[in-house]
Amino acid sequence: MKQLEERIRADGKIREGGVLKVDSFLNHQMDVKLFQDMGKEFLRLFGDCGVTKILTIEASGIGIACVAALFFDCPVIFAKKNKTKNIAGDVYTSKVESFTHGKVYDIIVSKEFLHPEDRVLIIDDFLANGSALQGLIKLVQDAGATLVGAGIAVEKAFQPGGDLIRGMGVRVESLARIKSMSVEDGVTFCD
Ligand code: 5GP
Repeated sequence: MKQLEERIRADGKIREGGVLKVDSFLNHQMDVKLFQDMGKEFLRLFGDCGVTKILTIEASGIGIACVAALFFDCPVIFAKKNKTKNIAGDVYTSKVESFTHGKVYDIIVSKEFLHPEDRVLIIDDFLANGSALQGLIKLVQDAGATLVGAGIAVEKAFQPGGDLIRGMGVRVESLARIKSMSVEDGVTFCD
């Protein structure tokens, strides 16, 4: 999606360690008009898949997922990062290793909100090593629901997550795919 690529070029900030900061339009301050165009693009890509739920992970996926859900006319569930040691029984749970913080944490979704008849589209802001997506996919599988695919805003294609998840047979559509990125040379996108 050219518009997102141009915005990343203009306002993204490259940090050491392969981290792209997009706090001015995606992760802190949010450009909701841009989210609207991203939602339309996700609908173009997944609109014929019979999506009944959008699943994301707190916190930075929520805004994008909510605007997309307006186009799909379906609810959004966000997986919560569990802070307590005891996980109650009425939840699906999996583990995610944070790319940006390096910690492993549990994510949970209440069994009340994910059902075998659901057709789930996962939406997230970034795809890097694929741990967040893997964790979300496990929640969908544990619920016995159908995964229609994953819609990602920014895929860092130089990290292994995209190949890993596509290798699992999951349809992954990323609106901007970064081929390479460095403080010296800036961002290059995949064709
Ligand atoms: P993964 O689990 O694929 O390694 O990383 C995905 C998660 O890490 C995303 O949900 C996102 O919050 C965060 N993340 C990974 N790489 C970046 C990055 O370069 N910039 C930002 N802002 N977040 C990232």
